[in-house]
Amino acid sequence: MKITNHRLVGESGEAVSFRKSPNQSGGVSPLYLILHFTAGATLDGAVSWFLNPEAQASAHLVIGRDGAVVQMVPFNRRAWHAGKSAWGNLEGLNQYSIGMELVNAGKLRKRADGQWVTWSNHVIPADEVSTATHRNENAEAGWHEYTEVQMDAARRVAVLLNATYRFTDVLGHEDVSPGRKVDPGPLFPLNSFRSIVLGRA
Ligand SMILES: [Zn+2]
Repeated sequence: MKITNHRLVGESGEAVSFRKSPNQSGGVSPLYLILHFTAGATLDGAVSWFLNPEAQASAHLVIGRDGAVVQMVPFNRRAWHAGKSAWGNLEGLNQYSIGMELVNAGKLRKRADGQWVTWSNHVIPADEVSTATHRNENAEAGWHEYTEVQMDAARRVAVLLNATYRFTDVLGHEDVSPGRKVDPGPLFPLNSFRSIVLGRA
């Protein structure tokens, strides 16, 4: 994979697809990489949502649970992933970041029958769920696990992005919109991911 004209391009057979989201605008200074989970279980669902003008949301990249990479906004355009957000003395982080979404159902609740389900009552198999307490919360909850191939793909793309755009930092949505957002959540290894991406291991 490489970056050409602010687009990811596959090399030697790697599949990188580009599905243009209408939810974008001009002007971005990518100081930060911001990580998210989609709060859904499928890549198709996430891509469809970001293709829908009514969503008023998008991300530069969506990483599937099988490691598939879909770009939806060129890296020199502003994607709409962070919403109301702040970091340091900056507000509205869409203007200052590249947004990467990982397909993951996020925070789950245990139904009366013992099944873990999403906000939309979609069942997530128990072997894909771990309990953890979010660092911005007090109570333990169920969270959808990230897959290994997905994390590998996310790291590879993030390292490549950093080589081109030289990020100041790698952040979670939960960092820039605390109290409002809990993604990428406690199962995302943000500290090690940051070290690898920024080369400060
Ligand atoms: Zn988010």
